[in-house]
Amino acid sequence: MVDSCQPEHGPVSSSPQPERPAAGFLPSQPTTRLQGVGPKLAATLSAAGIDNIGDLLRFFPRRLETVLELEGPEEGAIDRLVRLHARVDSSRLIWLPGRRNMLRVDFFAASGEPFQAAFFNQPYLRKQLEPGEERILEGQLDRRGETWNLKAPRIMPKAYEAKGPCRLRYPEVPGISELRLRGLIRQALGACDLVQVLAASLPASLLDEFGPDEAALLAMHEPQSVEAHEAARRRFAILEAVELFRRVEKIVRARAQVLAPELRMDLADSEARLTRCLPFTLTKQQAAAVRSLRRSLQGPAAMAVLLQGDVGSGKTAVALAAALDVISSGHQVALLAPTELLAEQHFACLQDWLAGEDIRVELLCGSLQTSERERVAKDLSIGKIQLVLGTHALISESTEFDKLGLVIIDEQHRFGVAQRTALIKKGSNPHLLVMTATPIPRTLALTIFGDMQPLYLEGLPPGRRPVQSIFLDRKAWPRILRSIRACLRRGAQVYLVCPKIGEEGEKGGAVRMQQELAKHLDARLVHGRMPARERQEVTAAFRRGDFGVLVGTTVLEVGIDVPNAQLMIIIGADRFGLATLHQLRGRIGRGKLRGLCILSGEETQRSRAICATRDGFALAEEDLRIRGAGELLGRAQSGALDFRALDPIEDMELLQRARQAVREE
Ligand code: ADP
Ligand code: MG
Repeated sequence: MVDSCQPEHGPVSSSPQPERPAAGFLPSQPTTRLQGVGPKLAATLSAAGIDNIGDLLRFFPRRLETVLELEGPEEGAIDRLVRLHARVDSSRLIWLPGRRNMLRVDFFAASGEPFQAAFFNQPYLRKQLEPGEERILEGQLDRRGETWNLKAPRIMPKAYEAKGPCRLRYPEVPGISELRLRGLIRQALGACDLVQVLAASLPASLLDEFGPDEAALLAMHEPQSVEAHEAARRRFAILEAVELFRRVEKIVRARAQVLAPELRMDLADSEARLTRCLPFTLTKQQAAAVRSLRRSLQGPAAMAVLLQGDVGSGKTAVALAAALDVISSGHQVALLAPTELLAEQHFACLQDWLAGEDIRVELLCGSLQTSERERVAKDLSIGKIQLVLGTHALISESTEFDKLGLVIIDEQHRFGVAQRTALIKKGSNPHLLVMTATPIPRTLALTIFGDMQPLYLEGLPPGRRPVQSIFLDRKAWPRILRSIRACLRRGAQVYLVCPKIGEEGEKGGAVRMQQELAKHLDARLVHGRMPARERQEVTAAFRRGDFGVLVGTTVLEVGIDVPNAQLMIIIGADRFGLATLHQLRGRIGRGKLRGLCILSGEETQRSRAICATRDGFALAEEDLRIRGAGELLGRAQSGALDFRALDPIEDMELLQRARQAVREE
């Protein structure tokens, strides 16, 4: 059967209640069993993850739009999705460049009011829309001048019976129209044993409320009301949540089975060391976090802790305390960062702190010379190095440790579940401490870090005042320059962040910006394309206070710690996400001076949010709302959030119940 036998807008199925043939389909059967699906269409479906009839039935609409049923176009319905019963007045086929065409049709609504709709590249519709023909149309109401217009119009099948006040929107499947897809789903619904589709097992405690129900599957695709759809959605959402937590539970149990390194920690010794090393005493909150980590490290199972603390809350010192504990028992510690720059920063800081101790700290990264890297790798494998720093590549490469006791991962949001699992598979099952300054909304913490124990570091170190943030538009550049000069006169330092590196002379790029500034000011450049040695040299010089303005890209985002930096200018702030902006401004106000962050560029929802709140958690939730979960966490994580019915942000209660039920299984 060829898959083009059904015209795009032809009647999809003429019976409103699908017939159930006695010999139905099985969910496991291929989609080619459906009428109208040939190998080509099957491949198109398969590319979207629909391999069999069961998959098709579980391909759920993403959202529900309310449809306004109207007699005729009206002012108050502009931009809304409307449904109109209409009669065709006339139509005209217009050819466009590139063999494309447009069918413009004039209709009269039931109220007698005329309106227009344009259909692109569907010339065959002309035959269906003869003058006088009556059809139901749905689309977004628009008005151009005096003329009413229906945008993205859909002609509903002739036998279409309006299914209540809502229209389902399915996720897009490239190569097949939504209407066509719905036709297939409808065919499958009519002929498949639905109970089998629902056969996925739920924990016993959830069965009563969420047990298999044929009507639910029907209500997902053909709801009689918004409420019926929502009730059905919850059933499938909890099923997805259960599947998620079963996977999580598997990870947790796998970890529990491999013995954790047994640590014989000399706490008195490591405590004394910590006091010697740190140029400050831990805050109450830091000390509490350290105590909690010690308890976990002494437990029988491998620790897996997610330490969340806002930018500048002092997580590095907490991590050092844990590292010293583990080192005191003769084990090794690896600290991983998302970028080389950050690994270098940590290296500089920890080398400095640990200067007087007999602990060997090394940096293992791509920019080392081969001979150097081999030497470090060898010493690591025979246990001559106690603390090693590097990027995530450190664990994916064939790095060997002698006695790896603890892995610390900084800035988790770039580090996916997959990498975490890879780490566990490294055999020795080390303790794991993950640190993040991107506060993770509670729902997400539950879904993505469900296998980890959360630990919060509240507050900021003493004497620290929150950064003030303001927005200035591009015209305010002279004012920005004055602020920079004033800051330098006070003896403080400035970061200037650009959205891209840019080529020589390219506007808006960091390279050009630095060249311009360097004409009058003491400005230098740092970016990711620079050789590591040069980069290290520039950041070290900035930390020493050798020059006043550091121009860079988002390499400045994480971990850079220069207490004397007081002012940050972010050029093109509209081009950065909320999480990045919050991270960036966390770089300033680290010393005694109050920090000021100036955002420049187009004013956006994000820049307003960032100026209005300093609370990282509130921002993370806002970010989630603006951008969606996948983006917030980066691609590494989005796979974990690939849900059809579950809303990982709104369905907190379902998530919690599913987790509880799975744990008690
Ligand atoms: P983050 O949590 O963002 O990684 P850092 O660990 O980089 O924060 O700490 C931010 C700054 O605060 C650093 O300059 C660090 O030396 C300083 N700091 C951390 N803890 C304390 C403390 N207890 N007292 C004083 N300064 C501290
Ligand atoms: Mg940090």
